[in-house]
Amino acid sequence: MTLMNSPSPDVAQADPWRLNFDLHCHSRRSDGTLTPTELVQRAARNGVQVLALTDHDELSGQAEARAAAQAAGIGYVPGVEVSVTWGGETIHVVGLRVDPEDPQLLEGLQRTRDGRDARAMEMAEDLARVGIGGAYEGALRFVGNPKLISRTHFARFLVDSGVCDNVSEVFSRFLVEGKPGFIPHRWARLSEAVAWIRGAGGMAVLAHPGRYRLNDTARWALFDEFKQAGGEGIEVVCGSHTKVQYREFARIALQLGLRASRGSDFHGPEESHTDLGQLPPLPDSVVPIWYDWSELGHGLSARA
Ligand code: AMP
Ligand code: MN
Ligand code: MN
Ligand code: MN
Repeated sequence: MTLMNSPSPDVAQADPWRLNFDLHCHSRRSDGTLTPTELVQRAARNGVQVLALTDHDELSGQAEARAAAQAAGIGYVPGVEVSVTWGGETIHVVGLRVDPEDPQLLEGLQRTRDGRDARAMEMAEDLARVGIGGAYEGALRFVGNPKLISRTHFARFLVDSGVCDNVSEVFSRFLVEGKPGFIPHRWARLSEAVAWIRGAGGMAVLAHPGRYRLNDTARWALFDEFKQAGGEGIEVVCGSHTKVQYREFARIALQLGLRASRGSDFHGPEESHTDLGQLPPLPDSVVPIWYDWSELGHGLSARA
């Protein structure tokens, strides 16, 4: 099968830098609150021209998202966000234009997901030590996909039960290193995550690089290793970057010869500050990750 639904014909004529691509968001198949269909319909209403659903470590929403995009008349790219452990930190790598049926990718993601349930039980035990009982069962009430219980579901439980006012407060008081409910976890290796994505015909993009708590030396080492492994892009305009970071990561993308991606990282209307398709365009200086996606037509080479 082809890896992308073509968007409407006018997209091929448009300036690729100004196209409304949203290449990072989540559905209930991981830690978002909308179904893939609801997510796609919201994206279409918001003017998104090409969408990628990028659930954490999970591809089971792809067929539904793609069918919904076809029905809504917008372009669609299969995607995933792989959890990676690098230098003791959790790093996220977005895979775009992957074949959602690639056996090696499916197997790698399954292995990456496997420890989540045991980790969730340990998180609940740790929360019980500070007097918060029933957190595992409580988090499960918010889970849309039993294979994918995440910290976000615990955060929703802690808000729902009145322990915190909102999800941001949860991630400052709980579930992060040094705070109750944090259980360190070993995810995929950076090189294997990139290899799975490339093996499935996709392009690997380092997600929200501005969010990692790394010193300068470690950050450059991360970019270097990501590139060596075959990584091709970084998120420049994304829901967790400031305007200053758009410029900073545009400069870094240019300097390293990496392409730039754009994605809201939308999780749901109640929680996400950045709605689908509502980010500014990529800076003119960068090369969009979608620059030579042939399904988009020849308009894309206009500024080559
Ligand atoms: P996990 O994969 O179980 O470690 O959960 C990670 C998820 O928690 C991320 O994908 C985010 O959706 C959410 N998350 C992490 N940090 C924050 C934060 N500071 N504010 C809101 N959500 C967060
Ligand atoms: Mn998430
Ligand atoms: Mn992420
Ligand atoms: Mn994400």
